[in-house]
Amino acid sequence: MPGKTNLLDFTLAGLTEWFALMGEKPFRAKQVFRWIHQRGVGDFAAMTDLAKSLREKLEATAEVRAPAILSEHRSADGTVKWLFDVGIGNGIETVFIPEEDRGTLCVSSQVGCALDCKFCSTGRQGFNRDLAVAEIVGQLWVANRRLREADAGVERPVTNVVMMGMGEPLNNFGPVVDSMAIMLDDHAYGLSRRRVTLSTSGVVPHIRKLKERLPVALAVSLHAPNDAIRSRIMPINDAYPISTLLEACRDYLEAAPRDFITFEYVMLEGVNDAPDHARELVRTLEGTPAKVNLIPFNPFPESGFGKTAPDRVRLFQRILLDAGIIATVRKTRGDDIDAACGQLAGQVVNRMKRKAVHFQRREARS
Ligand code: SAH
Ligand code: SF4
Repeated sequence: MPGKTNLLDFTLAGLTEWFALMGEKPFRAKQVFRWIHQRGVGDFAAMTDLAKSLREKLEATAEVRAPAILSEHRSADGTVKWLFDVGIGNGIETVFIPEEDRGTLCVSSQVGCALDCKFCSTGRQGFNRDLAVAEIVGQLWVANRRLREADAGVERPVTNVVMMGMGEPLNNFGPVVDSMAIMLDDHAYGLSRRRVTLSTSGVVPHIRKLKERLPVALAVSLHAPNDAIRSRIMPINDAYPISTLLEACRDYLEAAPRDFITFEYVMLEGVNDAPDHARELVRTLEGTPAKVNLIPFNPFPESGFGKTAPDRVRLFQRILLDAGIIATVRKTRGDDIDAACGQLAGQVVNRMKRKAVHFQRREARS
């Protein structure tokens, strides 16, 4: 007998189609979709405005199955990190970052990452597989439920999503786009395109496709002012060098919800953090409406990179600001539980090198 259909895998259009196959009307699909995503209900018996016969039919054929929580850690600063079980030794991580005016969820798109950026702990672990829609949206579904439980008064704890967890979202294009469509759907989470940000290392053809399909806010991991440095730390630069990448960014702006692209720039001591690099970056970005987000490097065991001193980060920022480029320094959140950018390690059974990588992890201190 085939397994039950996981309704978390469906966009509203997909669910409507599946309901049609079951002989059910489109508005029923909409009702169920709202129960699942707006109210966070996974138990059909609790969907009280559905006919009993439909509830029974759903119970027999369908389920709402998000990845199971393996662990949950809370940081001193309120950040929450979950490790989710995604089968056969694999785990992915999701991070919630509360701020005064918003709650941001950092969502993973793949188990590991194949792109091998030298400063990234996910990249160092290798790659196992793409996540399915139910596993991507499931992170949001579970986070909202858990956060509501923890803080009973808050109806919608997650107000923003950043696709900045483990993985390269544009290399899992279909499921990531469907997942973001659910995040944007007014019958589900109703987030605006400005509140959903996709971060990419620069998979140029897919940036172009994203523009056509679902132009959400875009963040691009640039991390270097020139191709020589970028290729050294990001192998993808050999396929899509900076000029090609920036051209795709400018083109994306025609459809983007904001009138600039955010460029992420991780400050690596002695690699890309000198004042001359800042000046070169200004020249490189000329003609591309940009905001630069300087990210302090978050160390992980045996990374081989060092952290730029704070006053050097500020000097770098000042040079950008003086040249008229908006530049911010990202606040590091949740580093006491290894939840900061680039520290997400999860558990990845690496299939690239056809052997399991046992990754040394610091014990969470929360
Ligand atoms: N694959 C996508 C999204 C996930 S990484 C991308 O590369 O954009 C999210 C962000 O964290 C990226 O900008 C990435 O370059 C950055 N990052 C990776 N490792 C880091 C580290 N050790 N310290 C700080 N930022 C890091
Ligand atoms: Fe993959 Fe992004 Fe890490 Fe690079 S920085 S290895 S693209 S997750």
